[in-house]
Amino acid sequence: MTYDVIIIGAGVVGASIARELAKYKIKVAVLEKDNDVGNETSNANSAIIHSGYDPECGSLKAKLNVLGNAMFDTLCKELDVKFKRIGSITLALDDNDVKTLKELQIRATKNGVETSILSREELLKIEPHISNNVKAGLLANTAGIIDPFNFCVHLMENAVDNGVELYLNTKVVKIVKENDTFIINDKFKAKMVINCAGLFSDEINEMINPKSFEIIPRKGEYLVLDHFDDDFVKHTLFLVPSIKGKGVLISPTSSNNYLIGPSAEVCLKDDKDTDKMTIEQIKKTAMLMVDNIPFNQVIHTFAGIRPTPANHDFIIEEIKTKNFINVAGIESPGFVSSPAIAKMVVEDFIINRYHYELKKDFNPYVRPYLHINELPFEKRKEIVDRNKDYGEIICKCEKVSKGEIIDCLNRSVPPHSIKALKKRLRVGFGKCQGGMCQSYALHILANYYHKDINEIPYDSLDSYILLDELKGAKD
Ligand SMILES: Cc1cc2nc3c(=O)[nH]c(=O)nc-3n(C[C@H](O)[C@H](O)[C@H](O)COP(=O)(O)OP(=O)(O)OC[C@H]3O[C@@H](n4cnc5c(N)ncnc54)[C@H](O)[C@@H]3O)c2cc1C
Repeated sequence: MTYDVIIIGAGVVGASIARELAKYKIKVAVLEKDNDVGNETSNANSAIIHSGYDPECGSLKAKLNVLGNAMFDTLCKELDVKFKRIGSITLALDDNDVKTLKELQIRATKNGVETSILSREELLKIEPHISNNVKAGLLANTAGIIDPFNFCVHLMENAVDNGVELYLNTKVVKIVKENDTFIINDKFKAKMVINCAGLFSDEINEMINPKSFEIIPRKGEYLVLDHFDDDFVKHTLFLVPSIKGKGVLISPTSSNNYLIGPSAEVCLKDDKDTDKMTIEQIKKTAMLMVDNIPFNQVIHTFAGIRPTPANHDFIIEEIKTKNFINVAGIESPGFVSSPAIAKMVVEDFIINRYHYELKKDFNPYVRPYLHINELPFEKRKEIVDRNKDYGEIICKCEKVSKGEIIDCLNRSVPPHSIKALKKRLRVGFGKCQGGMCQSYALHILANYYHKDINEIPYDSLDSYILLDELKGAKD
């Protein structure tokens, strides 16, 4: 199998590059070790489209964050992804913090981000629940919140619809270069390789180059609150950033839940556990920002792992081996920067070098999802009259119908696992966390793929939910 470009890793960065390359007359493949796209760091983060006030002036992070932020309105329309510019407020709790806010405002202006400093009184008018500790805040209106799961899935779906080939469950274990051709896993050949392997990008680099950087995994734990009150907090609220990063935030999510976290702890690359002590510490920190947080509404905790590089800036470079490009160390604000990273990589390293032509028939749009629960009653009735599957609600918490699941299975990057389905349609994301709907979802996936329900995994190919029949009972 021979390609012009092979991308290793289908996180938000690999998927953004794949979609950007799909605009050109070029043969591209993406190799992904997991059973789904966007399944590592891009799957577990704060999902904030940061304004760009915070990264060090002159860094790649600052430049690509601000450029990336401006691209999200168009991208999310084309890719049918939930995105709202709700704005962020960085809260000062004492006079020192107020001084830092002023410094941050100067940095914001240098980075090209408009901000304003609000007094406590002004803040109370837009965020009535802020705690008594809060003295002032730095408002950045261009910050937003996004559905991170469907952003990755739809980037890749659009890339595949425009000719990119995606190989899931394909872990890269070997890269050699013979003359001008890279050979990956003794099977895939390409003129160029782009290393977007996130936490594992240092290991991928060392398959072909001498060691030049190291990725330090740093875990961030979170709590998720159910959607209980539209007005609890309306902006993304941060404390002033520290050496460890932007610290704990409280934010609405694009699905009307609330997110609280993350922590920051050095960890192992596969350690996604949450622990009580860290969660309690996150709660304490959050209470410095907002009063009366309804912790009885917590429905889930999770952790994501930052691929932190030693120099704390993005590594986008060709080190020694020609045409092997590292796109590594993409920690926060990597999600918001991803479209700008993709443009930079494609233009600087590929198009300027090889002058591939743009395709005339590139279609930037994905087929929009039909969310039955978001339609007016009459429209819903019309759809259900045409197709009864849309009247059969499988996930009662998030109100997702069988028709939506079947539609999702018929797309070009379909879910093969319970987790992949959950990420796309929120089946099992609600209060019951899948307790009620998971068995129905299992049956729908099994029927669709003509498999036994025992063969449907939760996530990776070996993560089976059902192992055997119980007391001879069937189904
Ligand atoms: C706690 C936390 C909070 C964050 N908050 C924000 C935020 O609010 N806003 C923001 O902009 N950014 C945020 N980020 C950063 C953002 O999530 C990352 O920058 C981004 O997801 C990185 O994407 P990626 O594609 O580089 O990595 P990943 O998403 O990890 O993708 C790498 C892919 O490579 C695959 N892979 C690895 N090894 C191999 C191999 N050998 N063969 C084949 N495939 C392989 C992996 O399976 C994975 O799918 C946060 C990150 C964390 C952890």
